[in-house]
Amino acid sequence: MIIKKNEPIINSLKLKSLSKESALISNKADLYFLSEHINKHNLEYLILGEGTNIVPPEFYDGIVIRSDYKNISYKSPDILTVGSAVNWDDLVKFSLENDIKGFENLSLIPGSVGASPIQNIGAYGVEVSSLISSIDCFDIKNSELLKLSNEECNFKYRSSDLKNSSLFIMSINFKIDSNRKLNSRYQSIQNYMNINEIDDASLTAKTLANIVSNIRRSVLPNHHEIFNAGSFFKNPILHKDHIDQKTFALDSLIIWELENNMVKVGAARLIELIRDKISPSENVSLFDKHSLVVITNGKANQSEVLAYAKNIQDIVFDIFNIKLDIEPNIIT
Ligand SMILES: Cc1cc2nc3c(=O)[nH]c(=O)nc-3n(C[C@H](O)[C@H](O)[C@H](O)COP(=O)(O)OP(=O)(O)OC[C@H]3O[C@@H](n4cnc5c(N)ncnc54)[C@H](O)[C@@H]3O)c2cc1C
Repeated sequence: MIIKKNEPIINSLKLKSLSKESALISNKADLYFLSEHINKHNLEYLILGEGTNIVPPEFYDGIVIRSDYKNISYKSPDILTVGSAVNWDDLVKFSLENDIKGFENLSLIPGSVGASPIQNIGAYGVEVSSLISSIDCFDIKNSELLKLSNEECNFKYRSSDLKNSSLFIMSINFKIDSNRKLNSRYQSIQNYMNINEIDDASLTAKTLANIVSNIRRSVLPNHHEIFNAGSFFKNPILHKDHIDQKTFALDSLIIWELENNMVKVGAARLIELIRDKISPSENVSLFDKHSLVVITNGKANQSEVLAYAKNIQDIVFDIFNIKLDIEPNIIT
């Protein structure tokens, strides 16, 4: 295994960023070697996929570790094992070609398979946690191989116990369930089907994947052209009574009712309502078609992005008494 020095940290926000060391992992021997190297030198480490959900610093004083596990194979008729370096959308395409249902709503989500359980990626009514049977990982801190069951990952909305852990994901074992039903309940899918006169009876996994892809392309920027990390803030969950309604009435917000008077609030709408109050920044702004997407012009650094985000968080808090949390991983 080769350890490289001062390599750029790839990231879809196109922030200027270098790491002291970096390494590509291809097998278990690499992992044992790396764990010894890290523990011996007391090194900081960052496990990196395709960098579409991180906000990296200008210089990372540690080692960046990337996976080179690229295999897709059937462990049994109902388990598909996929290497962490496989691109997520390539896996979605593989599932469609091989008649494996469940992945279609997650079409076009950028990034790698290895990162998918970290924040429990989700879109259009489906989360990856519903597809995972178990995860094969290596604990860098304790230098040991582990297999985590779905329950042990403790998946929640945009989070799991794998986040900020010392676990390097080698591969994920996905459940193949031929009886799985297509999920077209999400409002924007329903609207698309109504406008285009598509009925539930004629829906297949491929047409659903197409619908999701068309909707995504119409609202989200391609991160290779417009530099971004997807939704920059999570939809906040809080008690309904805590929302300040002095400036905007509750019905001007997007609200999903949960149990016990708790609600999930659409962060995009909150930002839309205060958009004209945000202080402009030279290299950072919001995507014009989607207020949740922070974009850069390719010349920004981490502190400019975080200052821009803090300004939005402060205004939203002042006006709505709602705390917005950042979704991508801030690397320090
Ligand atoms: C335009 C755009 C649209 C997006 N849309 C969505 C969406 O609809 N839904 C959604 O949920 N997300 C979305 N995202 C966010 C992003 O696609 C996901 O978070 C994706 O899983 C990140 O993959 P990555 O390989 O780029 O991870 P990275 O950004 O490289 O890393 C993200 C996290 O995963 C960890 N990680 C990566 N690989 C491994 C591994 N092998 N083992 C252990 N930890 C690892 C990293 O340490 C880091 O904490 C979007 C992003 C963009 C740019």
